Amino acid sequence: MDKLATELKHCWCCDGTFPRTTEFFHRDSSKSDGLHGSCKVCTCDRKRKWQKEHPPAPHPVVGRIEIITALHENFERAAWKERFVEIE
Ligand SMILES: [Zn+2]
Repeated sequence: MDKLATELKHCWCCDGTFPRTTEFFHRDSSKSDGLHGSCKVCTCDRKRKWQKEHPPAPHPVVGRIEIITALHENFERAAWKERFVEIE
């Protein structure tokens, strides 16, 4: 673990290089090193952009999830997007 912590990781999105830690990269269990391919700043930026460009479609399932989201103010939008994909 000490070796991993001192390694640097390249962000493909902003071309930056950051310490390979969860302070700079979100966790991603599907990746071999357990961290997202882009840094936290880029991931958040892209998430915001994606949500702006992909507003919820008029679909009954989405409507239901939107109600759930409204009930849980702190419910992360990305989480229900993922759920929507799973349901479909
Ligand atoms: Zn980045």
